[in-house]
Amino acid sequence: MRPARALIDLAALRHNYLLARSRHGGRALAVVKANAYGHGAVACATALADVADGFAVACLEEAEILRAGGVAAPILLLEGIFEASELPRVDALGLWMVVHDASQLDMLAGFAPQRPLTVWLKFNTGMNRAGFVPARARELYSALAADSRIATIVMMTHLARADEPDSDVSLVQWRRFREAVAGLPVPCSVCNSAGVLGWPQLRSDWARPGIMLYGADPMPGEGHGLRPVMTFDSRIMAIRELQAGDPVGYGARFVAARPQRIGLVAMGYADGYPRVVPDGTPVTVDGRPSRIVGRVSMDMLTVDLDGIEAGLGSAVELWGVRVPVNRIAAAAGTIAYELLCNVKRARFEYVDD
Ligand SMILES: *Cc1c(COP(=O)(O)O)cnc(C)c1O
Repeated sequence: MRPARALIDLAALRHNYLLARSRHGGRALAVVKANAYGHGAVACATALADVADGFAVACLEEAEILRAGGVAAPILLLEGIFEASELPRVDALGLWMVVHDASQLDMLAGFAPQRPLTVWLKFNTGMNRAGFVPARARELYSALAADSRIATIVMMTHLARADEPDSDVSLVQWRRFREAVAGLPVPCSVCNSAGVLGWPQLRSDWARPGIMLYGADPMPGEGHGLRPVMTFDSRIMAIRELQAGDPVGYGARFVAARPQRIGLVAMGYADGYPRVVPDGTPVTVDGRPSRIVGRVSMDMLTVDLDGIEAGLGSAVELWGVRVPVNRIAAAAGTIAYELLCNVKRARFEYVDD
């Protein structure tokens, strides 16, 4: 069996969820969109079932996978519906939906649900992506509150720069949001992970933590007590002794300066390890620090074994408990979110203790 693996620590996931909720206060929807940021949505939601107040996904298709997997808790569709034909499924599965655009109100207009709906009204306070203008908060609230088909209304907004501790944009967004909903008897939701970790003054009724559940800290510096959930690892499948001047891999990006041992690892960009990382990107080999040498290819990559006691079958961690995924994201010029979402082909294993 090819040893490329994503090892998912479900106890760490629960730890991170409980940390998010206790930092924020109130209730928290565990965001498990995009297959739980690549970790396996049903497995993650099932592991959180006893503790989470509910879940959030991007769309109906993702919610259907959770319901089919036995997840009974509330599930919010963060983008709401895309066409009116989704409404009977939303109703039958008891899903909550974001309404962020007038076109979605039009879709709702002619629909007669079997049971009252829960709607999260989303307002644009500065992201300028999805959401109604805050000036419409009262009018929209009144219309939905008077609508017998709607049981529960939550008011929400989304922060654009909460991962920047020195930016005052989050406070500006908060002020716009608070003004819009002032006096309305309605629960509110503002904070994503960076909001939870960096902006305690922006607390509201519901948090929506995503990336922090998986142990990747969105704030600079880290140190919030999050535990990495995914360890992405593999094993050495061959060892080669290079002579000075020997190139390694496609394009001969790395050339040995002296005699040197390298290890060939069963892991490549087709597994989701980023091809763009430079020579020197950290890995561990049997727990000891080492580095990538040569270009990452589709199914294999090469690591420096100089001064490291390692052999065939030695474990190579690409990210996880020893190598922070944020380190690799920085080396790849991206964010941990993208790396985690991209993991594929590798075998998934779950531990829970
Ligand atoms: C994805 C998403 C979140 C979670 O964001 P993180 O940065 O992963 O915590 C929260 N709210 C909305 C609306 C989202 O789309």
